[in-house]
Amino acid sequence: MKLIITVDTERDNEWKRPDKTSLENIKFLPRFQELCERYGFKPTYLLTYEVATDPSSIAILKPWQEKSTAEIGAHMHPWTSPPFEKDEFWENKVHRFPHELSDGEIRDKLAVLTQSIINNFGIRPKSFRAGRWGFDKRVASELIRQNYIVDSSVTPKISWKNTKGDPSGQGGPDYRFFPASPYFLDPQNISAPGHSSLLEIPMTVLFTGVFKKENNIFGKLVLSLPESFLKKVINRLFVRLKWLRIFQNSTKADFKRIYKAAQKNKLPFIQFMIHSSELMPGGSPYAKNEEDIERSYRQLETMLAYFKDQGLQGTTLSEFYYDFK
Ligand SMILES: [Zn+2]
Repeated sequence: MKLIITVDTERDNEWKRPDKTSLENIKFLPRFQELCERYGFKPTYLLTYEVATDPSSIAILKPWQEKSTAEIGAHMHPWTSPPFEKDEFWENKVHRFPHELSDGEIRDKLAVLTQSIINNFGIRPKSFRAGRWGFDKRVASELIRQNYIVDSSVTPKISWKNTKGDPSGQGGPDYRFFPASPYFLDPQNISAPGHSSLLEIPMTVLFTGVFKKENNIFGKLVLSLPESFLKKVINRLFVRLKWLRIFQNSTKADFKRIYKAAQKNKLPFIQFMIHSSELMPGGSPYAKNEEDIERSYRQLETMLAYFKDQGLQGTTLSEFYYDFK
């Protein structure tokens, strides 16, 4: 089994919807990179436009790409990604999902983001993640057209329908019944394997309770229930849906459960994700101060040590593609 580590590399505290862009958090990344290297794992940094065009951020990230101790990919936040057809102030206020953009906006914003990485890093990015997980068949088709080979915007078992972007839109995508395994997606139906050149490498979100099998009837039933207290209780007791992330209360037992569930389902990989801003004190709601950061690093260390002990090998998104193909 492989371990894929992905970092949404973006401006400080996006949750606050700041008026002004600051990128202090990027200066905190070397500690994370060093930790991954110490355990022999190789992260994929998915960059937003503001990071890909900021000289001090480039100076930090580019050497890792050049030494091949990390991969650089793209992460689209439409509200900071030019060109702006709509009012920039409005964009920044509503945070539209990429799948809510017009065809022309998807095409142009992706082209500018891609070109900024080519210009500043000397490589064409091959891996992509949509901001706020906002992905659909139009985004998929444009990624294929612009020569991307990996998308990692799918969060199986999760629906973002109740998360609003454009006030007149339908909310985020519903990925509840999407596969947890990697698949070359069908651009006409992105939930199904097809014959395109774009490999979907979903986020690792698994059932880790009594019923660990993907597509088990009980799990499907629970996913179909509307959000409620009862659903939370059933989830706690039987289903135990878990993301491979670190939260305030994540422990080794959680990483173990996820690994066991992945094994049971014969997954060829598990994928961890973190936002770059989570690694700076006050950079995100997840880590408000230095103590929180130290706790996060203890959890990261526990997780990486455990996965290394289990014999997991590190790989980046596009390296996984070449192996898988
Ligand atoms: Zn993001």
